[in-house]
Amino acid sequence: MTNAPGPDAERYAARRDRAAAAAAGADLEGLLVTPGADLVYLTGYEPPPLERLTLLIVADGRVPALVVPALERPAAEVAPGMQGVELSEWRDDEDPYAVAARILRAGRYAITDATWAVHLLALEQATADCFFAAAGRALPLLRAVKDEDEIERLRAAAEGADAVFAQVVTMAFEGRRETDVAADLERLLREHGHDRVDFTIVGSGPNSASPHHHSGARVIVRGDAVVMDFGGVAKGYCSDITRTAFVGEPTQEQRRVYDTVHAAQQAAFEAVGPGVPAQEVDRAARAVISGAGYGAFFVHRTGHGIGIEVHEPPYIVEGNEIPLQPGMTFSDEPGIYLPGEFGVRIEDQVVVTDRGAERLNEASRELTVVG
Ligand code: ZN
Ligand code: ZN
Ligand code: ZN
Repeated sequence: MTNAPGPDAERYAARRDRAAAAAAGADLEGLLVTPGADLVYLTGYEPPPLERLTLLIVADGRVPALVVPALERPAAEVAPGMQGVELSEWRDDEDPYAVAARILRAGRYAITDATWAVHLLALEQATADCFFAAAGRALPLLRAVKDEDEIERLRAAAEGADAVFAQVVTMAFEGRRETDVAADLERLLREHGHDRVDFTIVGSGPNSASPHHHSGARVIVRGDAVVMDFGGVAKGYCSDITRTAFVGEPTQEQRRVYDTVHAAQQAAFEAVGPGVPAQEVDRAARAVISGAGYGAFFVHRTGHGIGIEVHEPPYIVEGNEIPLQPGMTFSDEPGIYLPGEFGVRIEDQVVVTDRGAERLNEASRELTVVG
């Protein structure tokens, strides 16, 4: 739950209008939204996803409707963006899908990608003349271009994460477990404005070669590379940063890998600009890493969009030709992972501007030695 003040009611209404227009523009009757990031974006309402159906119906030229369990109604009513949404409650002895079916006109609808199958299947059964398509495929990106309020929230979350990194590198690494450092990261994230901590990856030594390593009991020793990838939610928006530090002086190879990732991360950043196809940013990072002979060890895409969710479109990956637009926010996080030895990743969040790009993270990217 986020109790942080959200944008004003008009902003939510404008988002719903935009979503309805996008659906109409894609020859759809409307957009259906179950609990999750899209519902938060369109209404400010964040119920847990449950077996009881909560469904927002947005359609061009119609008053938006929320089908909501009766017991959830009081919570729904006070959501910051619910003004102008008509609530249709249902009780536990009623069929919620029949309630939804009475509101839906015949036609094709986009439905949020993360809708539970149990809800979609029941909706299909309750409506003979409605058809459903995944919103992510049927509609243009709804949340990818951020407004100023969203960018400010993302910037504040990023600044909190930057401060955490600046503090954690002053602490001891040698002789402590990965989970000890992860606990420090969690505590520091809360101290720096985070309402929720979602992940604190600490991969040391050979574990640093596993991009999504789960922090474990390994004791950090001298000579280790330590990949730290951490983030959470501050005022409804996500942070996500990665830095790699070395315990004691790095070897020549560690230094070379670090410098290569650093250069690749900078090359990707410099490739970002309005109108640039997303895949070009990935190519820019990959060219540097391949050029240094490590191409086979850069095993993931260069980045992912970030906002209400930590991974959301646009994805910075080969094959994604969507042109970047001012206001889009995403990660720039190339890495090199040498199995059994060590890995390096450097990750910042960036925002596309009218002329190029700006970093939201400014924690030091210089090679950092810890004790
Ligand atoms: Zn990741
Ligand atoms: Zn990350
Ligand atoms: Zn990331």
